[in-house]
Amino acid sequence: MPFAKLGLRSELIEAVVAKGYDTPSPIQERAIPAILERRDVIGGAQTGTGKTAAFSLPMLQLLAESSFNNKRPRALVLTPTRELASQVHQSIRDYGQKLNLRSVVIFGGVGFGPQITAFRRGVDIVVATPGRLLDLMQRREANLSNVEILVLDEADRMLDMGFIHDIKKILKEVPSERQNLFFSATYSKEVKKFSDAVLHDPIEVEVSARNSTAERVDQEAYIVGQKSKRAMLSSMIKGGKWYQVLVFTRTKHGANRLATQLEKDDISAMAIHGNKSQSARERALASFKANRIEVLVATDIAARGLDIADLPYVVNYELPNVAEDYVHRIGRTGRAGKAGKAISLVCENEEDYLWDIEKLLKREIPIFLIDQNGKRREAEMERKPSGKKRTKTQNRGGSGSRNYGGGGGRGRNPRGGGGNRNPRGGGGGQRGGGGRGRNSEGGNSPSGGPSQNKRRRPGGQGNRQRSEGNASEGSSQGSKPPTFRSKLNNLLSRGR
Ligand code: AMP
Repeated sequence: MPFAKLGLRSELIEAVVAKGYDTPSPIQERAIPAILERRDVIGGAQTGTGKTAAFSLPMLQLLAESSFNNKRPRALVLTPTRELASQVHQSIRDYGQKLNLRSVVIFGGVGFGPQITAFRRGVDIVVATPGRLLDLMQRREANLSNVEILVLDEADRMLDMGFIHDIKKILKEVPSERQNLFFSATYSKEVKKFSDAVLHDPIEVEVSARNSTAERVDQEAYIVGQKSKRAMLSSMIKGGKWYQVLVFTRTKHGANRLATQLEKDDISAMAIHGNKSQSARERALASFKANRIEVLVATDIAARGLDIADLPYVVNYELPNVAEDYVHRIGRTGRAGKAGKAISLVCENEEDYLWDIEKLLKREIPIFLIDQNGKRREAEMERKPSGKKRTKTQNRGGSGSRNYGGGGGRGRNPRGGGGNRNPRGGGGGQRGGGGRGRNSEGGNSPSGGPSQNKRRRPGGQGNRQRSEGNASEGSSQGSKPPTFRSKLNNLLSRGR
């Protein structure tokens, strides 16, 4: 179906044609007519499906058709991150370039001056993250009493990130008579509860099964010892001549550290996360988009909303402890109908996360290992979803809490070779694991200390931690359940 059939005006059709879009994506096909009819919409769409245009195009049209009677914003788009706010704002500017509408993007980490000036001058559309917008409202610089259309983009993440109270405060200042458009890649009970309370008789627009991942993303997992991860990643990037690789770590410190380590392996990399200044985040993203660096190492929050055309590879250097985050992560690739590959490096204590992800996806992710001859082999693993529902705040210790034997040696840097020949855990664990007592990536838990043991299952990781530190695999296992390491050894010996 051509865009023209959706009821969009010519200025908007010209804008999408200029962007190179031939036909509307499924979410656009279904959401645009409903929004033009001024219905509330709840859109369940994976990232990369064209959901920004799905709400922006009809929103622009409705605003262009209604009268401008004062300077106050008539549409408000809330997003969880600065990057997403910037991108959505850019799209709105691109799509609306032939319409006489004014827009502004509002987020923290930058000066108030230009944002205040924009409000004082008058603006039709505000794209904002909640915190800074509230600041401006409290300073009486942002008046939302004329808002007709409210968009909540990535509603699931907004709630995950604890924005619920800010959003509620903002909503108090927005007229209750308004059109609500909610978009969410995944649906939790919280999103459902919130949308039930806010939306009026919404049309549900869902373009793929809930919580399913982009079909075009080719997903693989590799089991690998914690201490071999970096060597394996470097080897994969160099051996496969990968470019534009988005790598996820769970912690900010881990992201910094991995970027530095990759640089040492002659792979150009930068980190992007919430502790970086806005300008550093923008610099890293611009370098990555322009192909000046090969790898962008990101935390979940910073990577939210990143729209990078042609991004071919996403690597989960550490699996997320909340399965839904996996969907968001891998959704960075395979966008707008393009192919993409998502690779997860799964170590000792991440098995449960993998099973939980498979349970959410309702499919098995092929699991491989690199055997001692450097050959890739399929690994048959017994799947056991933990069934635990984790939240963002649980398991905060990141991989640090799961690190064996306190980090041990620094691991060798095989410069693209040996690392993947020995996925069994590199040097550290084998050599006694005393090392520097540091977690390799767990920035949040520098000591890998006792509090983390609380989360370990009895007879599970805590015991493993000690046995790994003592070099001889299996020697201290006794009648305990087989460890990841012993399973890995089994698999390796079967592969020989
Ligand atoms: P989104 O899901 O909004 O983040 O969009 C993902 C990507 O798809 C963006 O790079 C858009 O520019 C692109 N896109 C959106 N709609 C279309 C379309 N109808 N045809 C081709 N590409 C599109």
